[in-house]
Amino acid sequence: MSIAEATNTQNSSTKVISVDAVIIGAGFSGMYQLLCLRDKLKLNVKVIEVADEVGGTWYWNRYPGARCDSESHSYQYYFSDELVKEWEWSQRYPDHAEIRRYLSYVADKFKLRTNISFKTKVTAAKYNDAENRWHVMTDKGEEYVAKYFITAVGCLSSANIPKIPGLETFSGNWYHTGQWPHEGVDFKGKRVGIIGTGSTGIQAIPVIAEQAAHLTVFQRTANYSIPARNAPLTADFKKFAKEKLEQIREVMHTNTNGHAFRIVDRSVVKTPEQERLEILEKAWQKGGLEFRAAFSDVLIDKSANDIVAQFICEKIREIVKDPAKAAILADIDHPFATKRPPVDTNYFETYNRDNVSIVNLRKTPIEKITAQGIKTTEQEYPLDIIVFATGFDALTGPLLNINISGKNNMPLKEAWAAGPVNYLGVQVPGFPNMFTITGPGSPSVLCNMPVAIEQHVEWITNCIAEMQTKGLNKIEATPKAADDWVLEVNAAANATLLPQAKHSWYLGANVPGKPQVFMPYAGGMAHFKEICNNVAKNSYAGFVRS
Ligand SMILES: Cc1cc2nc3c(=O)[nH]c(=O)nc-3n(C[C@H](O)[C@H](O)[C@H](O)COP(=O)(O)OP(=O)(O)OC[C@H]3O[C@@H](n4cnc5c(N)ncnc54)[C@H](O)[C@@H]3O)c2cc1C
Repeated sequence: MSIAEATNTQNSSTKVISVDAVIIGAGFSGMYQLLCLRDKLKLNVKVIEVADEVGGTWYWNRYPGARCDSESHSYQYYFSDELVKEWEWSQRYPDHAEIRRYLSYVADKFKLRTNISFKTKVTAAKYNDAENRWHVMTDKGEEYVAKYFITAVGCLSSANIPKIPGLETFSGNWYHTGQWPHEGVDFKGKRVGIIGTGSTGIQAIPVIAEQAAHLTVFQRTANYSIPARNAPLTADFKKFAKEKLEQIREVMHTNTNGHAFRIVDRSVVKTPEQERLEILEKAWQKGGLEFRAAFSDVLIDKSANDIVAQFICEKIREIVKDPAKAAILADIDHPFATKRPPVDTNYFETYNRDNVSIVNLRKTPIEKITAQGIKTTEQEYPLDIIVFATGFDALTGPLLNINISGKNNMPLKEAWAAGPVNYLGVQVPGFPNMFTITGPGSPSVLCNMPVAIEQHVEWITNCIAEMQTKGLNKIEATPKAADDWVLEVNAAANATLLPQAKHSWYLGANVPGKPQVFMPYAGGMAHFKEICNNVAKNSYAGFVRS
């Protein structure tokens, strides 16, 4: 369908374009939202994307080792059986290039690119009360005027580069993993320093170590990691994934985390020690995120968590031969899985290489970056390349980077000064007809994300469909519903051990000055979906529609 763009010129430099809906972002979320609004609801839709291709996360994250931790058969759209049957993954965990190929295939199949403006950044979006329209401004001098404004900007798309004094004086090259150069980086013969040992650092470290002359890992927070056990998919598994797609979808859509495995209803503490060890060992050998699913009380009972944490720390000490390195790596300050739980390929084994060393930043913090390298309170480390695997200004960052203002010119930055406030993670009071896909307050990053994305997109689509058929112009979350939802999000987090990880990006603790509020909804994907469905069934209770 072509976009009927009513174009006129407001002044010599601004092109004003009227559409029904503007979507920001062409990753998993924006692409599916486009398809639903354009093909199901027959709306005129414009997607605006700063990159020059679809892919979102996987367009930007091309660092060595970048791959998915969700298993390939679950990390895809399930809205189309045809699509599931057509696409074939090659490995248990697809790498960034394979996911890009998949999303490009989806874009081709559903002819999505015709509605996407690439290489265009949304700089501001303002709600006009009198018109009940959103005015969305781009860096190309365009102004889109739309009834519906949907952000599909991602939870992890705003790179967090720590403000370490002296970075500008560094004479070598530095990179953030989330903005990786497309041509790659040649580490051969280089002295490389990497800051960060979260999921990304844990993926990148083994691969960089194979290429660099020397790799120095600067670790602030030691982390658990489970072996991924990545491997090519067998013909039998590929057949199973296609033939059993309905059962797989059923599992993903009815469990708490959106993955294609069930959490075993069994308690760590109530299982006899020997049996428990055998279960954990089997789960360790199988590898992947499913390790967490071997028991059901790991995230709610600290003594259960301690047992599993101890099992992993023993593994670290077993794998890492140098006791000094092992001690730094196993000195973990948070319960298992209360930070995003990494899975790895040879992460701990990499510390057995002669060309890999580790610096404990807890003991000797970084003082500054110099022309030659990184200087801690103990010594200076000469480096040719610094890699920042320091993550993202998660969940709120990508939204607050855009100058968004709602009713009465209220900036989103002000509405969220004390932390994000919204209803169901989907709408902010005072910002009518604006929808946020997998925003803070939704399960988002605590879930296998394509499941969370499909749920949010379909809920938004149904909501808009009903507005269109009923001739409604406006939907807005009430302040009370949003305040109650924030309490519900807090209560859900507090029922788990998740808030005990003090340095977690789930809490915003990785960005100085960011309000520390537990942002994702931890009550489980299936429960969240039920709540959203009930809200819709009850005439969108908690929203005012007119
Ligand atoms: C390294 C890494 C590994 C991950 N692994 C997993 C995993 O194993 N399992 C899982 O479920 N999830 C994983 N995720 C989360 C991942 O982000 C989601 O799975 C999913 O890709 C999110 O899709 P999205 O479309 O919502 O957002 P994104 O993919 O982030 O897309 C957002 C898009 O919006 C664009 N955009 C943002 N702001 C603007 C603007 N102002 N103007 C124009 N365009 C803009 C961005 O360029 C981007 O293309 C991972 C994330 C990272 C970073």
